[in-house]
This record gives sequence, C-alpha cells and structure tokens, in this order.
Amino acid sequence: MNAERKVLSGNPVSAGIAYAKAYVYYPQELRVTKSYFPEGEEEKNLKVFHDAFACASKELDGLYESLRREDESKAKIFAAHKEILEDEEILDEIQMAIEEERMNPEFAIEKVFHEFADLLSKVADPLIAGRAADLYDVKNRLIRICQGKEERNLAWLSEDVIVIAHDLFPSDTATMDRTHVKGIVTEIGGANSHSAILARSFRIPAVLGVADAMTEIPDGSLLIMDALSGELVVYPSEEEIQVNEKRKQEFLKKKKEEEQYLDKPAVMKDGTQISIGINVGSAEYDVPEKQYDFVGLFRTEFLYMGNNCLPSEEEQFQAYKKVVERAKGHPVTLRTLDIGGDKTLPYMELPKEENPFLGKRALRLCLSEDALFRTQLRAVLRASVYGPLKVMFPMVGSMEDIYRAKECVERAKESLRAEGIAFDEDIKIGIMIEIPSIALIADLAADEVDFASVGSNDLTQYVSAADRMNPGVTSYYQNYSPAMFRLLGHIFEAFESRGKEVSVCGEMAGNPQAAVALAGLGAKKLSMSAANIAGVKAALAGVSLEEARNIAEHCRQIKTESEIKEFLGI
Ligand code: PEP
Ligand code: MG
Repeated sequence: MNAERKVLSGNPVSAGIAYAKAYVYYPQELRVTKSYFPEGEEEKNLKVFHDAFACASKELDGLYESLRREDESKAKIFAAHKEILEDEEILDEIQMAIEEERMNPEFAIEKVFHEFADLLSKVADPLIAGRAADLYDVKNRLIRICQGKEERNLAWLSEDVIVIAHDLFPSDTATMDRTHVKGIVTEIGGANSHSAILARSFRIPAVLGVADAMTEIPDGSLLIMDALSGELVVYPSEEEIQVNEKRKQEFLKKKKEEEQYLDKPAVMKDGTQISIGINVGSAEYDVPEKQYDFVGLFRTEFLYMGNNCLPSEEEQFQAYKKVVERAKGHPVTLRTLDIGGDKTLPYMELPKEENPFLGKRALRLCLSEDALFRTQLRAVLRASVYGPLKVMFPMVGSMEDIYRAKECVERAKESLRAEGIAFDEDIKIGIMIEIPSIALIADLAADEVDFASVGSNDLTQYVSAADRMNPGVTSYYQNYSPAMFRLLGHIFEAFESRGKEVSVCGEMAGNPQAAVALAGLGAKKLSMSAANIAGVKAALAGVSLEEARNIAEHCRQIKTESEIKEFLGI
C-alpha cells in the first residue's frame, strides 16, 4: 500500500480530521436525444425498457431495505419512488410510445415522465406539485440504467467516505448524506464559496482547492484528511493513521471544552454582551434555542434550489412560517432570493454573463422579475404575522436599489391589503452590505433602512476584486485586509450613531479571533453557522471590550493582511 502514498494539499475551509475511503464523485450527465428506431425492432426495444424497469425496481428495493433501519423518512422516499415506477398510466404511455411511435426507450421515458411532471408541477397544492421532483428522480434512474451507467450520487451512500469532486453544487452539498460523508475535497472553491459555507454548517471537514484531486486520488483509496492544516495523505502508513487519530482526539477535546459556552449568552470579560445569531439555509434547522439570540441570515435561495420549479407563494409561506415558528420568538432575518454568481436554478435560464458575480445577481435579478419578487415578498409578509420576521435585500449597491426594493415591498403590502390578508404593517426592512458603493455611503443608507447586515464574504470579493470561488486568487481575496477593517469600522459607526442595528453575517463573524476584532470595531451582533457558536463565545469570554478595541485599532493600523492574521492568530 505504501508504494502509492501521496501527499496533497489545499485550503482547509471547514475544520476537522477524517480517515475514510475516497469517493470520487462526478455528477452524471444524462443526455437524451430525440431518436426513433426502424420498424420491426419493437420487441427488442420493449425489452430494453422492461429490463431497465426490473433493474430500477431492484435498486429501489435495495435502497429501501438498507435505509429502513437507519432513516425511516429517507426509506419512505424510495417506497414512493417505487410507486411512481409502477404507475400503470406512466407505464402504458411509455410502452405505447415505444410500440406505436417507435421512440427509442430513453427518449420515450424522458418524454412521458416530463409530461406527467409538468402536469403535477402546475397543481396549486405544494405537496402534490413537489412530487414532480420525485418523478424526475425515477426518470433519471431509468435513463441511467438504459445508458448502462452506475449509480453515483451523494444523497444515499452505503459506507463512510471522503467525497472527492471537481466542485460541488450547493444543491449537492445540501442533499448530501451527512451520516456517511466524513469529509469533502474539491479541486476548486474558496473558503467562502457556498459549498464551504454548507460544509461548515453541517460540520463536515472540508479541504477545497486541491489541484487535480479527481485524478490524483483513486476512487476507493484510503485517505487521511487533515482539515486543520489542509493536508491529505493517500494510502497513509500505519504510523500516520495513528498520529492522525491522536490529532483528531485533541481536536475533539478542544471542541468539547468550548461546548461549555454553548448554552450561555456571549459575554465578554467585562460583562459586555454580544448578540449571537445563526445562519440557516432551510426551515429544518436544528439548533437549541438557548444557543442563539436571533436568526441573522435565512438564505432563502436553498428553498428555490431544492425545487424543480419556482416555489409557489403558498409553498414559500409555509416554509417561512415554519422558520419563524421554529425560532420561538427569536427575530428572524429573511434574505430575499440571492441567485446568480455560483448559485443557479436548474429550471430558470439566467442570462449568460462573462462575469456572473458582477452581473444580474440577487436583488438585481429580483428587480427585473416582477412576478418572482412579488411572490416571495407576499409570502414573507404573510409569514410575518407568526413572529418577529424582518426582510433583507442582498447585493444592494445604491440608494436607488433601496428605493426600488422598498417600493416592491409597498406594492406587495397593497395587494395583500386589497385581498384582506393579514401581515405585519411594521415589518423591518434591511439591507446586506456587500458592495463597496453602499458601504461607503452607509450613513445615507442607514437613514433609509431599519437595519443592515454585513455580508463580508461578498464585501471582501468586491473590495479586493478577487473572485471568492477562484483558488488561483486566494491570496488576493483578503477577508482580513486593513482595508476591510477600516471599511467595517465605518459601517458600524454609521449605523450605530443613527441608532440602527447592524450585524455581520459573513463567515468572518464565525471565526473566533475575527469575532473578537469585530466586537472591538463596534459590532454588537454577529451571525454565523451554528457550528461556530461555541468557539466564538469562548473567544469573546476571554477578552474585555477594552482589549478587543485595542486589538481592532491595531488591525486598522497594520499594513498587510498576513501581519493582521499573524497578530490575530488566524
Ligand atoms: C456574504 O456575502 O457575506 C453573505 C453572507 O452572503 P452569501 O455568502 O450567501 O453570498
Ligand atoms: Mg453574499
């Protein structure tokens, strides 16, 4: 084994240590061409379909059985897929398309399933409309089998693995089998890419930006992954495995020590309290109430990304209501759709752009898609009667953006009033500060909105003109540059002096040392992945506000990011 030992390295973006088998993941492309077969080959093609049907049925039974004991709810999904597979109407239509129209089996499957899914997705009941996604799943299973490809997905794995991929779509990460994925390695993606953010929130160790990982790491090889240092060892020696295990235990011990702070408020040495928020991507989050004071960022795009069509107003309303109810009185900041950049919707064609991060992203897209934005705003407003809910716009670049977004809220309110539907008339409206042009006029913006939250991931990208996804410019993407510290200080001061709330919900807020510096700069509210709460609370408990201020002031004066990081111990 030792002969094949290899050491690779990348960016550790989600702390942890793992040792498992590599699972090289390439998303399957199932292209189906519109094709017909010659007369006389009906039997042969029907057999192809029947064989695929039998194989799909066997796969689904296997999945159901293997999951039944572990995870009843996931097992049920496969039972439902089996019912879809056996649906007589669908089967008849496919067989007819093959026998009578001489459609190639793959094409017949694609066409028939598409027609049924289309019908379902138009039904107003979100539960029924949601079944369209299951139909697509069954269709893909049949087509994959027809094409003779093996199953490859991340949602259902049978053993512990470290996933190796070129890149992961946020939807891959969001649906990942969290019991069996022990680590994530990708060839591209920076510390603040959305896959990194999801990995941290799921507490899955991740090392991104590992050049040629897909070819350098054989599928099935044993792998040590140190997501503290960023080092990977393929086919490690027995001794390395033992050292790794020791490091893992030390890491877990430190985590355990920090956990004593989890259920307590974040209080600094001198008694100053910092309000701790959580960033969530769905209504299903599971964080005990005591651990946080508010939901600082509800990224609603994941609801859209997990669907096969735009979620209806009712579907969104139910999801938003659920988040508010789950927060049990803690205020919830709901961010309107932030799509574009590295986040796309499979069912919505976005304009092809040379620089999507500088293009029609987030609020810009919503402002140009009236119906889409109105649907979301109406759903948010309707949910606002169930608890303290605030609405926040991403990618705001100017006062014009603020005026236009507020007008949209006003129009959504009027339409609800006209229909006699209840909502919170005083719903608080805020902005994300992610673009330098709004950061620089934070004082003017503060007069026009109720609150702001600094999206330091994007703010860094736009301040430093370095793509947050591109590992080739990692050293230019400087979260901790003196420029960032000066700009952040200016933003906090502008909002605080006007008595308006300001928080930080970018990844910086979840870094314990950075959190101390942010508190010193004037931040009173920090929102982060739940996984970071204990570490941040522990770090804040270790300093007084005065000490944090001195640290922050020093960061504003230091000349380079590397010196700041060294000074802060990041
Ligand atoms: C940010 O940009 O800092 C932020 C919180 O938003 P996202 O990471 O979703 O772009
Ligand atoms: Mg952002």
